[in-house]
Amino acid sequence: MSARDDLSGTPAPDCSGERARLREAAAAAGNEELLERYAADYPTGPHDQPQSMCPAFGSLRVGLRMRRTATVLSGSACCVYGLTFTSHFYGARRTVGYVPFNSETLVTGKLFEDIRDAVFELADPAKYDAVVVTNLCVPTASGVPLKLLPKEIDGVRIVCIDVPGFGVPTHAEAKDVLAGAMLAYARAEAAAGPVQAPREGRAERPTVTLIGEMFPADPVAIGALLEPLGLACGPNVPTREWRELYAALDGVAVAAIHPFYTASVREFEAAGRPVVGSAPVGHDGTAAWLETIAETTGASPAQLAAAQNRFLPMIRDALAANPIDARITLSGYEGSELLVARLLIESGADVRYVGTACPRTRFSADDCAWLEERGVMVRYRASLEQDLAAMAEYDPHLVIGTTPVVQQAKSRAIPALYFTNLISARPLMGVAGAGSLAQVINTALAGQARFERMRSFFEGVGSGDTAGVWQEPPRAHPEFKARFRRQRERARARSSVEEPV
Ligand code: SF4
Repeated sequence: MSARDDLSGTPAPDCSGERARLREAAAAAGNEELLERYAADYPTGPHDQPQSMCPAFGSLRVGLRMRRTATVLSGSACCVYGLTFTSHFYGARRTVGYVPFNSETLVTGKLFEDIRDAVFELADPAKYDAVVVTNLCVPTASGVPLKLLPKEIDGVRIVCIDVPGFGVPTHAEAKDVLAGAMLAYARAEAAAGPVQAPREGRAERPTVTLIGEMFPADPVAIGALLEPLGLACGPNVPTREWRELYAALDGVAVAAIHPFYTASVREFEAAGRPVVGSAPVGHDGTAAWLETIAETTGASPAQLAAAQNRFLPMIRDALAANPIDARITLSGYEGSELLVARLLIESGADVRYVGTACPRTRFSADDCAWLEERGVMVRYRASLEQDLAAMAEYDPHLVIGTTPVVQQAKSRAIPALYFTNLISARPLMGVAGAGSLAQVINTALAGQARFERMRSFFEGVGSGDTAGVWQEPPRAHPEFKARFRRQRERARARSSVEEPV
C-alpha cells in the first residue's frame, strides 16, 4: 500500500517498486494477454500510476458486499494482512479466505492445488451463489492459473480474477475488474437459458442500470427523475446480489455515473445496451442528463419537458438556498470528483482544481468540458504531488482531498474535508443532491478560526523530524546522510564491476 492509504495517511513502503520485473514475470508466465487487456482498459499516464491504496482492495470490497458470496485471496501474507485489516476497518463483517503459500508451493504448482481444494471446500450451494478467487501480485506474476479452476461447483459459480498492482492502476478500477467478470459470467448464463428474477420481481417500467457505488439516497433520487420519462431505476453495479446482475443486463439503458467501469461497459455493450455518461448533478447536469436519457431510451419530448419542468426549478431553488462562497481545490479517487466539482460550482463555489486518480474516459468528457469552460484545471490520473501543488498555487479557503492532502492542508491551517468519508457519504443526485454539500462545507469553513488557534497553540513545537517536545531539539546530521550515500554508491559500483558477464 502506498501514500494514499486512507487508513493511516502515512507513506507506506512502495510495493509497486518492482513493477517492471513483476510485469515481465507475469508475461513470461502466460499472463501477457491479461496485462495487455488491463493496459487498454485502464490506461496510465501522464505518469505511471497515481498513489493509491492496494488496488485489490476495490475488488475485495465489491465481493465482500455481496450476499451469498465467498471471497478467497491468494497472495503474500503481508498483502492479505493489509487487505483484510482494511476491509474489517470498513466494516466487512465477513470472513476473507486465504490460501497461504511459500516459495516451494508457488513454483511446484502446489499452490494451485491448494486453491482448488479450498474452493471445493467452500462451494456449498446452501451458503453461496458465488466464490470469488483473487490472485494478488505474486501469484499473478507467477502465472498461478486460476482459469483452470472449474467454472461452477454444485451450482456455485467460481469467479476468478487477477488484480495485480502492476496491472490495475487504482482500487477504483479493481472494482470494475470484478464487476466486469461477474457481468460476463451472468451474461453467458442469461444467453444459455432462463435466469433468476430480481428478489422484488421484475420492474413494471423499463429500467436504467446505474454504474458506480453511490450514496443510498442517490438511486432513489434518480428513480424520481426517471419516472416522468416512463422509466425506473434499475440495479446499481457493482450489485449486492448475484441475481441483480441479470436485471442490470436487462436495463433499457445504462448510466455510467462513475466513468471508469470499462470492463463492465464492454459487457453491457455486448448485451446491446446503450451506455451514457455524466450524471444528474445540479441544474445543468440534470437537464443535460435527462435529455441524453430521453434521447437514448426514446422518451417523447413531452415526457422530457415534464421531467425537466418538474425538477429543474426545485434544483435551482435548493442550490440558491444553500450557497457556498469559498475557493476550493478538490481531489479524490472515487470517480465522482468531476460531478462533485460541478455541484460545488453551481452552489457558488470558486473551484480551481479537480484531481482524480481515475483515467479519462468518454463518460466524463461532458463534465470535463463543462468544468474547463469555467476555468477549472482538471487532472486525470492526478498524483499526490499535483494535488499538493494545486493547493499551494490556488491558496484555497477549503481543500477536499485524500488523507495526505487533507493532512497537509490542516498543517497549514486550511480547513479540509476527506473526499471519501465526508463528501462521498452525502447525496449528490437530483433534488436531494442540490444543496447537500453546503452544510458540510460551510461548517468546515466556519472552523477556520479554530485552525488558526491550533496553529498558534502548536507554534514552536517543531515540524517534520523535529516535531514534538524535546529537552534539546534534535540536530540534523546531513554529513551522516552524505556518508551513507557515498558508501551506497561505492557498493553499487563494486557490484556492477563484479557482476559476471
Ligand atoms: S497485492 Fe501487490 S499492490 Fe497489493 S499490497 Fe501486495 S504487492 Fe502491493
